[in-house]
Amino acid sequence: MKDSDYGWSEKGVIAINIERIWKEARKENKFIDEFTKTYAHELLHTLLEDLELPELAEEETIRAILGETWDSKLELAYSE
Ligand SMILES: [Zn+2]
Repeated sequence: MKDSDYGWSEKGVIAINIERIWKEARKENKFIDEFTKTYAHELLHTLLEDLELPELAEEETIRAILGETWDSKLELAYSE
């Protein structure tokens, strides 16, 4: 996991970058909110893994389910 990542998942293992989330949140309620959103996002990656969608399609699907932002800037960031 890179320092810039909020979370990461592979083969059923979920990692959450709590240091980054805590540094940005600074308050317990906000930390819990961000941790929960990140965990839900990564959990969906593990649940959708078996579908073997292209990486961008999986990311866009998860963001649609969770009502998260998806735009051309993010698409570019994930393409690199
Ligand atoms: Zn993702």
